Amino acid sequence: MQSSITPVSEALRVEQKSAALFAVIAIAVMAGSVKLIADTPLGISIKFVPAFAASMLVLNLVTAALLMNLGYFFKSTGSLLLGGVFLIRAIGIIPHFLSFPTTLETVTGQSPITAWYWIAWHAEFALGLIFYALAADRAAHWKELTVVDIAAIATSFVLVCMVTLYLCSPWLPTLLRSGDFQEPVHSLTAKLLVILHVLLYLTALTLVVVRMRPFTIVQLWLTVCLVGLAIDAALGLSWSGRFTLGWYFGRALNILTSLVMLLVLMAEAVRLFRQTADANHDLHHKASHDALTGLYNRRSLDLGLELAWRQSHRDHKPLSLALIDIDNFKLFNDTYGHPAGDQCLQNVSKVLQQFARRPGDMAVRYGGEEFVLLLTGASETDAALTLEQFRQAICDLELPHRNNPGKIVTVSIGIASSRPLTYAGNALDLISAADKALYRAKHAGRNAIRAA
Ligand code: GH3
Ligand code: MG
Ligand code: MG
Repeated sequence: MQSSITPVSEALRVEQKSAALFAVIAIAVMAGSVKLIADTPLGISIKFVPAFAASMLVLNLVTAALLMNLGYFFKSTGSLLLGGVFLIRAIGIIPHFLSFPTTLETVTGQSPITAWYWIAWHAEFALGLIFYALAADRAAHWKELTVVDIAAIATSFVLVCMVTLYLCSPWLPTLLRSGDFQEPVHSLTAKLLVILHVLLYLTALTLVVVRMRPFTIVQLWLTVCLVGLAIDAALGLSWSGRFTLGWYFGRALNILTSLVMLLVLMAEAVRLFRQTADANHDLHHKASHDALTGLYNRRSLDLGLELAWRQSHRDHKPLSLALIDIDNFKLFNDTYGHPAGDQCLQNVSKVLQQFARRPGDMAVRYGGEEFVLLLTGASETDAALTLEQFRQAICDLELPHRNNPGKIVTVSIGIASSRPLTYAGNALDLISAADKALYRAKHAGRNAIRAA
């Protein structure tokens, strides 16, 4: 997948790499053991073939749909392309399935071409992956490909392969013994086809490994699946017939690889969903809070104040708002420097935050060195009491400010309260009333509180 899909953390990458390596070793060991007894007949289960084909169709169709959705939403042409390749794998099984003896015998008749369709199914998938590995990094610069384009190309590719094979069928060498669809013909053509089949998967594997670094989780597991499919193809070299242990093992590998891809993609989709949700949350926090102090910003106050105003009127409860201004703060900056000024703003904010106690209360950086404390359900008397505690708490910090009376940082505060039922006007009136009260507090000599 392309870079527009966010990378995974290093810890997850290491964990997944170990799991993938373990899976490759497990597949190789199992295949090695099976090879020794691959010819053991395991019983003819005709129904297994349609069940297998149906599972291939469904698993790969869902995988393709997931990849295309991810590609569409994250604008990743690489994912769209890979989705197309899995669509080829899903629908490519249909010709083999339909022509397989006993599946729709009465409709299609027993067709020796079924073995060719099987070979074509593998070859189409491997060729699709080779194309993906070669083109994915360039695909981002192509004219925008849509999901419909990719689906149309994938479907046409399978159709062209199927029709070509069908038209050529009178001249194609027989791969299965006539009248017996269990036993393969041990011809040179059959052997060469199997070798070609192995080579195609190995080429796809090599190209994905060489050209796709660093892997996404999906690409990592794609390589595991390709190892499995190359091993399945290689087992075909000593294949002696259907319904043997080796044959069932090969089918199981096909189901397993498709299942693994699907599960990995589902986990990836959930991870991306989670990442998007976290990013959204982060964005929302940044948009509503002040970066320096962590308090609510003015935008949040505009929303919160209007809501609190309406709520207080509905509940017939008072609402108080205090405008707080640090005294002689320009002189503080001039004396101690801007970074020290920032630190002072943070210290004052930390204390203010502790006074926003009720749900709906808000401690806000209103701008510069001015703050707002919104107190829901607090009358003018309650607010004056709380703000006096706050003013005292700032004095208690004893932050040095040698150009301020008292030689420490102090604040001036203006309070305004709405009185239920009798207070006319709107929420913004609270702010201008508090501002006027603050002006009076400044004129009273600072480090003081005045109510509107
Ligand atoms: P008063 O007592 O009348 O409020 O005087 P004052 O000096 O506090 O008020 P004035 O409005 O003259 O100055 C406010 C100062 O606050 C000026 C500006 O440099 C400073 N200031 C505003 N925002 C920031 C900030 O984010 N960081 C720092 N360090 N200073 C800031
Ligand atoms: Mg000011
Ligand atoms: Mg000031």
